[in-house]
Amino acid sequence: MKYLRTIQKSQIRGKTFLVRVDLNIEIGGDENLFRLDAIIPTLLFLIKKEAKKIIIISHRGRPSNCDKSLSLDVFAPIISKKTKKPVDFISAYRIGALVKAIKKSDARIILIENIRFFNGEEKNDPSFAKALAKCADIYINDAFAVSHRANASLVAITKYLPSYAGLLIESEIKNLDAIMKKNIHPFTVIIGGAKIADKVKVIRNLFEKTDSFLLGGGPANTFFAARGLPIGSSLFDKEYVDFAKKYLDSKKIHLPIDTVVHKNSILDIGKHTISEYSKIINKSKAIVWNGPMGLFQKKVYSKGTENIWNAILNNKKAIIVVGGGETVASLRLIKGFRNKVLKKSDLFISTGGGATLAYLSGEKLPGIEALKSNR
Ligand code: ADP
Ligand code: MG
Repeated sequence: MKYLRTIQKSQIRGKTFLVRVDLNIEIGGDENLFRLDAIIPTLLFLIKKEAKKIIIISHRGRPSNCDKSLSLDVFAPIISKKTKKPVDFISAYRIGALVKAIKKSDARIILIENIRFFNGEEKNDPSFAKALAKCADIYINDAFAVSHRANASLVAITKYLPSYAGLLIESEIKNLDAIMKKNIHPFTVIIGGAKIADKVKVIRNLFEKTDSFLLGGGPANTFFAARGLPIGSSLFDKEYVDFAKKYLDSKKIHLPIDTVVHKNSILDIGKHTISEYSKIINKSKAIVWNGPMGLFQKKVYSKGTENIWNAILNNKKAIIVVGGGETVASLRLIKGFRNKVLKKSDLFISTGGGATLAYLSGEKLPGIEALKSNR
């Protein structure tokens, strides 16, 4: 794989770059800007090395149509502020109009509209990728969090341009490789959240390496269902109940011993579970966490997630990876979180959720594989 960091200034100067980033972010709290901050180093690197033009590509959400609420326009002023450069937002969502508008714009930084508004993106359409490629000289993938998807702006595009991994992808790979290669024990994997399929697979993939799995959220409910326990209308995934049944006797898998329930739904782990999980986290030397323990957006169901953060931030000897959009957003539950995270050098905040778990599991991510096969 070729890394952007290794390109000489002479090869960057005067060139136009297509940079795929991940702006799949809810605008709101400051905590969500972790993902946004993460895209800036590559942009600044290109500006400093005198790139002629930087065309930023991203998706946001899962739009079925050109859903204006998922437009990327809101990010133009934010990127402009962070890079101290004007950013031209192009609202076209047909490839012909887009290419024309890019050619016409004399801005150095261009942000184009949500790439999933275009038909070819999620189909990994080569002709769409080719048309995009015509606008630039070099392609950079810096969108780690979406690199587990075979989409045109991540995979097909690499067939038409010299392609490099950006600074964020480089840092993700370095940090994720570090925790896996060191093979440190006790190794604890904490999984909760809503996207159950993405998360429970990690139980299969990391079963041998892991000493303890601590379950909360949807994954825990799916295991409760596998035990035949009544879960009312709690969030779970019935496709994975049979999968969960295979692990019911395993001592490695820890399920909540008490829960917080509201009207028929399990919405958080209980205080005895918090205490048991905290003890295990305390003794761990390597920890991976993805997925909140409960519906943390509501204060009454946030104690589980908040206390997992406390246990993690108090562990002074473990190497730790935390990933996932909402898991990272839940940091806002912790007072002074920014300083606490910055101070903790052995804690890596990954921008990926599903992508991070897939990478740690040793799965091949289409977006990364495409970079590797680029000449
Ligand atoms: P991430 O974005 O960190 O990868 P997910 O997208 O899988 O995580 O899931 C996060 C969401 O799961 C949060 O919005 C949270 O409110 C929700 N959640 C967690 N536990 C529960 C629960 N028991 N019931 C309902 N929602 C839950
Ligand atoms: Mg999420």
